[in-house]
Amino acid sequence: MQKDAQPETGIIVGAGIAGLGTAIALASHGVSVTVIDRDQAPATDDPDRAFAEWPRRGVAQLRHSHVFLARLYILLRDHYPELLDDMLRTGARKLPFSTGLPPQLLAGYSPLAADDDFTLISSRRVTLELAMRRFAAAQPGIKIVPDCRVQGLVLTPDSAIPDIQGVRLGEGKKQELHADFVVDASGRTSPFPGLLRKAGARIAEESAPAGIVYFTRHYRLRPGMTEPPRGAAPSVGDLGYLKFGVFRADNGWFSVTLAVPEIEEGLRALVRAGKGFDAVCAELPGVRPWIDPGRAEPGGKVFAMGRLDSLWRHYMRGPRPVVRNFFAVGDSVIRTNPLYGRGCSAGFLQGHLLAGIIAEIADPAARAQAYYTAQMREIRPYYDIMLKQDAQAIRRAERARDPDYQPRFRARVRRHILEQAIGPASRADITVFRALMRGFHMLEDPRIALRDPVIVGRILRIWARGPRRNRAVADRKAGPDRATLFASLSLVGT
Ligand SMILES: Cc1cc2nc3c(=O)[nH]c(=O)nc-3n(C[C@H](O)[C@H](O)[C@H](O)COP(=O)(O)OP(=O)(O)OC[C@H]3O[C@@H](n4cnc5c(N)ncnc54)[C@H](O)[C@@H]3O)c2cc1C
Repeated sequence: MQKDAQPETGIIVGAGIAGLGTAIALASHGVSVTVIDRDQAPATDDPDRAFAEWPRRGVAQLRHSHVFLARLYILLRDHYPELLDDMLRTGARKLPFSTGLPPQLLAGYSPLAADDDFTLISSRRVTLELAMRRFAAAQPGIKIVPDCRVQGLVLTPDSAIPDIQGVRLGEGKKQELHADFVVDASGRTSPFPGLLRKAGARIAEESAPAGIVYFTRHYRLRPGMTEPPRGAAPSVGDLGYLKFGVFRADNGWFSVTLAVPEIEEGLRALVRAGKGFDAVCAELPGVRPWIDPGRAEPGGKVFAMGRLDSLWRHYMRGPRPVVRNFFAVGDSVIRTNPLYGRGCSAGFLQGHLLAGIIAEIADPAARAQAYYTAQMREIRPYYDIMLKQDAQAIRRAERARDPDYQPRFRARVRRHILEQAIGPASRADITVFRALMRGFHMLEDPRIALRDPVIVGRILRIWARGPRRNRAVADRKAGPDRATLFASLSLVGT
């Protein structure tokens, strides 16, 4: 159904990445939105001061490493170029395709114009938020109301399913805000599922543990120092008992994240303190040069975040919505393991899709159906594959603690395919690497590359050369095995 030209109003609850993205997308279609956030506004435009001072209790992950995948970069480049420019002016960086190329492919690399589609945006998250918030606040039709907490719903009386007319604000304030629709962008701690269930909505929910605890420390390059050159050892890696990554950020900053399996309690306790964190980083050859005290100094404490889970909430039951004039974006409805770096891309993309649907369709039930279908099409394939990978990673972390563990036949075959075929091919053949990167960046279902006969043929060709001829492109050791690291740090591994 084509919508008539009535101006519409929306309330967006949450001024995080998804909320601001949704506001900007809706405003670009002429919808007036009020964005409410429980936290105070930043007191400064300066990324360093905001990083040090902005109290942001509504976003527990604010001071953890963040990078925007190419899916979001392309969305910004093609639809919101002025916002992208603002982000870059504030200090966020474009990391081109070549940044992630294995050294074996870098030497003979000749860039293609289409490689721009593999660009990452990298920055401290605070810096990205500052730029997005400033840009949103400057758009006609967007009003941001900080320091204001949503506590309840305003509902049409006696409707068959909850029909949302607005929200109730602040404890005891008894204030109501009305609009044509409400968007929940209030993140991991959203009050809406509880409020809606109380009002009778039957919301189905799936969840699964990510199995890791995140530890992040930020560092600043000393005056005159630069980031270390690319060496042989990777600055991102998965050792089974520990995953790690260096994140280049803005204005001379970078961060290191260590993702430790929940069951590794000793390692978790060690890296919680700065000294232990740096000691582990010093054992990782691709991280060590970054945190060299002559090159960089830590910018403060180690931030830790646990209870990381994946979550998918369903606001449809079969073909029917369970609530009217209500939509959810970002972590409040779809949450993914942060290791994949997909949350911001998914959240902004949801806002962009939702804004298009609201501009095109007037009927509330048809809107809900179209939005649900779009999410299932655009995000679900990545979610499903992530669930499998997380379950495998949890099992792998358990086995890393058992010195007598002998993998079964299927596990040995899987490892062989990864280590002797896909891994070497991704380092020897740029066509294979590009195909795999499309899945990584959420540009196409990650399973497509490995079902493409051309790509499979190229992988098989590298595999058939055998380990001796593939020595130069074999898996590089990203760091010590568990027993070696634990012995070197005098950790008791149980
Ligand atoms: C450790 C960690 C690392 C991550 N790294 C990455 C990464 O590298 N790349 C990536 O793409 N994603 C990453 N993510 C995921 C990403 O942070 C989230 O997906 C993204 O922030 C979701 O945006 P959002 O707007 O839904 O929620 P948030 O950004 O969390 O914002 C929610 C907002 O709602 C407000 N709010 C909450 N309750 C209320 C209320 N009752 N009333 C009013 N306002 C309210 C909060 O103050 C906040 O501003 C990471 C996540 C974690 C946990």
